[in-house]
Amino acid sequence: MREQIRYKSRREIEKLREAGRLAANALRVAARAAKPGVTLLELDKLAEMYIRKNGGSPNFKGYHGFPGTLCTSVNDLVVHGIPSSYVLQEGDIIAIDCGAKLDGFHGDTCLTVGVGQISEQARTLLTTCQLAMFLGIEYCRVGYRLGDMSSAVQRFAEERGYSVVREYIGHGLGRDLHEDPQVVFADQRPGTGFRMEVGMTLTIEPILNIGSHKCLVEPDGWTVRTADGRLSAQFEHAVAITKDGPDILSYPDPEFELEDGL
Ligand code: MG
Ligand code: MG
Repeated sequence: MREQIRYKSRREIEKLREAGRLAANALRVAARAAKPGVTLLELDKLAEMYIRKNGGSPNFKGYHGFPGTLCTSVNDLVVHGIPSSYVLQEGDIIAIDCGAKLDGFHGDTCLTVGVGQISEQARTLLTTCQLAMFLGIEYCRVGYRLGDMSSAVQRFAEERGYSVVREYIGHGLGRDLHEDPQVVFADQRPGTGFRMEVGMTLTIEPILNIGSHKCLVEPDGWTVRTADGRLSAQFEHAVAITKDGPDILSYPDPEFELEDGL
């Protein structure tokens, strides 16, 4: 079936930026609190309170029955980790994905942070994953196609020894949390796939694994783990394609930025 891409006006892009900023701020409220001894449920509560206090609503909560405001994916969890009573430990890494709906538009953004001191191996995974995301964003320009972006991200990751998860992908973002097109980050040829066009709003959200890209879904139907038990990380920004290039819609307000500029 042909994809039904909804192109956004400048006004709609500004609405998406407001929703993106709310989600990005809430994400950093949670990320700052991700210290040893804190539970995932506590992080979830902080993000939900921030979103509601600022006039939004958590858009993941209730989405196909998902129970959280955040997806909290610790260590070998790949995506969709349900906020639980798990107590964060020194050395964990946690991917926090946060969504917020504001005035009819959706924000959706993710980053992965270390809990206390983390290993050099984990730190390099996080840095590489974040760079892979920004590399993907650089391809959100008129003249490129999905396959150009996707193959660049995959090559970047694989040259550094990481694998790119296949099953969990980016998407269009607008009045719906998941719109067309599907934004995949692996197994595409340059010069193929949809063309980047002005007015598209996409999420760029590659997931990198230290080991194999293969994943397993837990019996709860949500939690996804790496099949080999090794670490996984994800970063996500929402991006508008403009005539002047990519415009990131999920930056936080400056006072919410994390110490390392995340
Ligand atoms: Mg997300
Ligand atoms: Mg997303």
